[in-house]
Amino acid sequence: MISIKNLPKGNSMYDNNNIFAKILRKEIPCTQVHEDDNSLFFNDINPQAKIHVLGIPKVQCVDFTDFVSSYDTNTIALFFKSVDNVIDKLNIKESGYRLVCNSGDHGGQEVPHFHVHILAGEKIGPMR
Ligand code: AMP
Repeated sequence: MISIKNLPKGNSMYDNNNIFAKILRKEIPCTQVHEDDNSLFFNDINPQAKIHVLGIPKVQCVDFTDFVSSYDTNTIALFFKSVDNVIDKLNIKESGYRLVCNSGDHGGQEVPHFHVHILAGEKIGPMR
């Protein structure tokens, strides 16, 4: 089991009580799609497509910029390799998918732990 205290810490202020931190600590449940040493993937509770999976790295990071600026290239690469592995596992490589990463107020980010949305399983439609 992961202790959030043992999660590597980034440069930004990180809220240990955000909902994804609680999911990482297994304090609240999720429908898990994939887990490895560096990342966790689970179904979005309010899916916007037939397939809507969220992927989070197991480090303390508020958003994309915090993640890529606070951690070494190996940590960053391992996370994005895991994203690709999950895309493989979901069998959506050929049919296609959309990766979304919201950041900050203008990006519409709700949960302050960096995450990617994997949307697939049907035509996702225009960007807005
Ligand atoms: P964002 O707006 O990019 O921060 O996206 C946050 C996402 O987290 C939304 O799509 C929510 O539906 C999703 N979400 C919030 N709480 C949970 C939860 N407990 N389990 C799974 N997904 C969640």
